[in-house]
Amino acid sequence: MGACLALVLVALVLSSAAALAQDIVRVQLKWTHQFQFAGLYAALAQGYYRDAGIDLRILEGGPEVDPVGVVTAGGAEFGIGNSSLVIDRTAGAPILVVAPIFQHSPFVILTRTEAGLDGPRDLVGRRLALEAHSAEVEAYLKTSGVPPGSITVVPHTGNAVGLFAEGVDAISAYTTTEPFDLLVAGVPFQMWSPREIGIDFYGDTLFVDARFAAARPETVRAVREATLRGWAYALRHTGEIIELIQRQYAPGMSRQKLEFEANDIRRLMLSDIVDIGYGSGTRWRHIADVFAEAGMMPPDASLAGLVFEERPPGQPLWPYVSLAAAVTLLVAAALVAHRFYRISRELRAQIEARRRLEEELTLLARTDELTRLPNRRHFLSVAAAQLEACRAVGTGFAVVVFDIDHFKAINDTHGHAAGDLVLAAVAAAGRAAAPATAVLARTGGEEFAAALPVDTPGGPMAVAERLRAAVSRLEIDVGGGVLVRTTASFGLADGAAASLDALLSQADRAMYVAKRAGGDRIEQAGEPEPVERTAV
Ligand code: GH3
Ligand code: MG
Ligand code: MG
Repeated sequence: MGACLALVLVALVLSSAAALAQDIVRVQLKWTHQFQFAGLYAALAQGYYRDAGIDLRILEGGPEVDPVGVVTAGGAEFGIGNSSLVIDRTAGAPILVVAPIFQHSPFVILTRTEAGLDGPRDLVGRRLALEAHSAEVEAYLKTSGVPPGSITVVPHTGNAVGLFAEGVDAISAYTTTEPFDLLVAGVPFQMWSPREIGIDFYGDTLFVDARFAAARPETVRAVREATLRGWAYALRHTGEIIELIQRQYAPGMSRQKLEFEANDIRRLMLSDIVDIGYGSGTRWRHIADVFAEAGMMPPDASLAGLVFEERPPGQPLWPYVSLAAAVTLLVAAALVAHRFYRISRELRAQIEARRRLEEELTLLARTDELTRLPNRRHFLSVAAAQLEACRAVGTGFAVVVFDIDHFKAINDTHGHAAGDLVLAAVAAAGRAAAPATAVLARTGGEEFAAALPVDTPGGPMAVAERLRAAVSRLEIDVGGGVLVRTTASFGLADGAAASLDALLSQADRAMYVAKRAGGDRIEQAGEPEPVERTAV
């Protein structure tokens, strides 16, 4: 009897241990933690994997990590790859596609505007930072007619701003991240997308070790379902998942950067018109054909068995047939676009190059590159026109000039790049604080000017005060958690009769009075000088 009870107890303990023991499953990411993998983080946090008896472990990636290599070597059961999975699979890697997450690929090429490149073929003889396993970018270059081996490929550090600063001419990039870093750093760049020439790949794609899938299909199904549910959750609760990422995965990554990424990913997932995770054989065929045409895999390779359980068992066929028809139409359209592109490539490239050059020249001539405000030359011409218009209707006109206090000390203490961030932040704050009737410009190194009609609501003094307060309120994050505060000295001059030059020099003198009095204040110039003195 006692032995029987002991046996029952042992059986009970064993069965509850089995219920508690969860399957450990590893997913190798292709990059460092960011919103790119939000669906996995969300599914983990929501307990979707745990509810399916799976203890999912996320392995962080990076520029040097090859998820296919890790998975095939047994370092993980799942990985996040991209369209080049079709090349790996055809070359014999034992992997299966589980679900495409991004319906379009985020891969693009970014070039330094200064490098003056107009299209892929201008890269010949230039330096291109290419991340490992960016086969799509290679296919794009080859399809664009870049001769093999004609570009100097340098390693990709993952730091776009740094690479451009070192003089690299172009980099492979994700539309979801690098453009943000360059925009924030004020580095002018151009973006070339393979989609412009009809090459349309899947982006991030969940894949699995084929041997694991053969042994444990139910686990693969469960991971697929939980991950897609996680993505649906992440798209519905973006703010919450951004906070989770900042707290748990990527401390120090800014909210703005993650929001930028989330917005772009939403665009790539097309989740409002395509089911998350939907993939089609026709689309993979198109991708394989583009790779084959670029000489990167054999033509007409069989794609049978590329996709894990292409049609989940026991489900009706008709939704798949209609979806396949829709996708076939899409792909046919892509193929036509591709063909059309090939025919008119030269012409389009020439037109595009001219348009870009013209746009750039106009913009360059008018805009200060760092702050995106009008430059001094543009300010002088716009303000002069505005002054004329005011005079014609009998309204007074005012200029406010301001100069950042002790700016040199910011450069000396935190470096020139930090100084640049401060200038950009002051410009943005000024633009936000200035009324629509004012034209605000960067007129010199750390000098700005605003021109406005005196009948602007509140008057020029109120505008100057808003600008002063906006600048002194700023706390500028210059990296490494360092916050920089700053102030500026303001000079104001107004008058109906004075010329723009006279107003500017009066405002300048007043500004220096404010500066000598300790800065962070506004000084108004005295009586305006008449434009023409009457000879005595
Ligand atoms: P004060 O308060 O009296 O005006 O002193 P200050 O240090 O602000 O002015 P000063 O004229 O002595 O120094 C201005 C500095 O601004 C010197 C120059 O190197 C720097 N500067 C000018 N243009 C730029 C720029 O585009 N970026 C950065 N980081 N610094 C700049
Ligand atoms: Mg100064
Ligand atoms: Mg100055």
